[in-house]
Amino acid sequence: MRIDIITVVPELLESPLSHSIVGRAIKKGLVEIHLHNPRKYGKGPRQQVDDYSYGGDAGMVLMIEPVYKMIEELRSERTYDEIIYMSPDGEILDQGIANELSLKGNLIILCGHYKGIDHRIREHLVTREISVGDYVLSGGEIPAAILADSIIRLIPGALTDETSALSDCFQDDLLSPPIYTRPAEFNGWKVPDVLLSGNPKLIREWQDEQALERTKRLRPHLLEK
Ligand code: SAH
Repeated sequence: MRIDIITVVPELLESPLSHSIVGRAIKKGLVEIHLHNPRKYGKGPRQQVDDYSYGGDAGMVLMIEPVYKMIEELRSERTYDEIIYMSPDGEILDQGIANELSLKGNLIILCGHYKGIDHRIREHLVTREISVGDYVLSGGEIPAAILADSIIRLIPGALTDETSALSDCFQDDLLSPPIYTRPAEFNGWKVPDVLLSGNPKLIREWQDEQALERTKRLRPHLLEK
């Protein structure tokens, strides 16, 4: 898989995408991530990438030409399954979308900044718009990192024990049961006895009950699916 991220602030993405599970997936060759700054196609000697919005609203808007040229450069090299724009009014990211995108070959993720991007980019070039939730961030970079991370950890081989993705929250529309590690008692706070019982059947039953109870209480809408 290959993910190309278009951003005017690539620095914001360098660290989140080079460590831990994502960093290891890159090292293992499971995914390539490339950051591209459309500023190289910016206007004039100052390589301008943003301008005032028509209509006079406050805030700068990413200009169409540098972003268009950046996308065209990438599209001349390979075909893309999706050109995704990170946007607060897009479809809200969930595990289903992450699962679906983890099966793709080549993705472009486009990050807005300032007030957003020229709407013609969304109308004519973008194939999908994704939000990380109903709140506004300063730029699409952190949302892009969230989206890329959610996809990459699902690529087979990215997690050392693949089954650990299967038992994650949402993977079967259920939340995860509580988890514990040693010591069995700390400060008088105990790990549930059943987990120390060594009886896999009892443990499984307890985990299933807990998962269902937590889902009913914390995310009831998942059970309606
Ligand atoms: N004026 C826009 C917000 C711009 S925020 C509006 O009201 O919709 C600047 C950029 O941050 C956006 O272009 C988008 O790429 C990104 N962004 C902000 N919040 C986001 C969210 N919840 N999900 C995904 N991207 C977001």
